[in-house]
Amino acid sequence: MARRLIVQKYGGSSVGNIDKIVNVAKRIASYKKKGYDIVVVVSALGDTTDELLGLASKITKAPSERELDMLISTGEQVSVALLAMAVHRLGIEAISLTGAQVGIVTDSSHTKARIIGVKARRIREELKSGKIVIVAGFQGMNVDQEITTLGRGGSDMTAVALAKVLNAEMCEIYTDVDGVYTADPRIVRDAKKLDRLSYEEMLELASLGAQILQARSVEVASKFNIPLHVRSSFSNRVGTLITKEVKAMEEVFVSGVTLNKEEAKVTVCDVPDRPGAAARIFGEIAKQNINLDMIIQNISRTGSTDVSFTVMTSDLGKTLRLMKKTVKTIGAEGVIFDKDIAKVSVVGIGMRSHSGVAAKMFKALAKRKINIEMISTSEIKISCVVRKRKGEEAVRILHKVFELSKRR
Ligand code: ADP
Ligand code: ASP
Ligand code: MG
Repeated sequence: MARRLIVQKYGGSSVGNIDKIVNVAKRIASYKKKGYDIVVVVSALGDTTDELLGLASKITKAPSERELDMLISTGEQVSVALLAMAVHRLGIEAISLTGAQVGIVTDSSHTKARIIGVKARRIREELKSGKIVIVAGFQGMNVDQEITTLGRGGSDMTAVALAKVLNAEMCEIYTDVDGVYTADPRIVRDAKKLDRLSYEEMLELASLGAQILQARSVEVASKFNIPLHVRSSFSNRVGTLITKEVKAMEEVFVSGVTLNKEEAKVTVCDVPDRPGAAARIFGEIAKQNINLDMIIQNISRTGSTDVSFTVMTSDLGKTLRLMKKTVKTIGAEGVIFDKDIAKVSVVGIGMRSHSGVAAKMFKALAKRKINIEMISTSEIKISCVVRKRKGEEAVRILHKVFELSKRR
């Protein structure tokens, strides 16, 4: 009979200090004793990645992305080595490996690389010899043997990719909360833990700011139908199971509220009202691999119009440099930006069959005098951009209006 294989990912919050690393080692050991083959993916300790990025920003505003990857990939190498030592201390065999050593091959888009293949031969050999394999999350290598990273939260991606390649029966995501909640429990005190979620809803929640899982990892889990179990590394409670949609899920029309404070609004002013101007602006952005979110263009009354869009703040410098050049080539007036925004969203699969969610959302925000600056919708979500300082209040209001604390 094939041995049971499980992939477990421990986030930075689960390995923030030595006591926590020892706690993780004990948990892994208990699964080993139950007879599982275990592949563990680990993130950098606590806030290490942010600290490393902070160091780079003290040197330059526009660091080389190759060097950034060289820098931030070091965080995970520290945590895997320490965790392996903690497991050894329990008398259990384990080996730590980098992304490159396990054959995670990516494309060359530094800082947000995509996995194009996983060789995994080394992992299989180590498992066969009875070891627990501890893999550095978040990192890979391109075909030119350059180190790459998989975007923020990318250890989730490593875990999902390994679960797929190794045909694991489960991919467990261990973190510092009990599962996925109706809103960030740090913002909404009476947020409710969700027992089950569909990939689709989780993907929207994650893309819209619920930092608990990296959006891209949910996309891949969904594509290959890999069940994800998000749970706490500090308790044995069952967390949130993320799977394909099941019928009962449709009955709930809003399952969560999210907040994203990591976006900035860029406005290209007085863009001449000519065919091709928008194509030029967005074409340049796509070429540089910058992810766009919302786009707004008003109808022109005067022969020119403002075009606004939002990007991740981490891409803002790059976007502005690019737009300064583009403004000249398309004959626009200039480019301005606003970092003082937040995006609040409500998400739910049931929105497909229930109308009136948008009206309820706008009314609730208006009642508290929270001005809506941009709106975007999809089949299962509605997002509004508001002033950043109003973001958390907006989340709490919406959580209340949609009665999410009453969810079971
Ligand atoms: P890790 O270090 O384990 O990767 P993260 O900090 O990336 O952890 O993600 C966990 C955090 O995500 C939680 O501490 C929580 O505050 C936050 N979070 C945001 N939205 C949600 C949500 N809807 N449900 C649960 N946690 C959320
Ligand atoms: N350490 C990386 C980050 O902070 C990857 C991860 O935590 O998943 O984004
Ligand atoms: Mg994370």
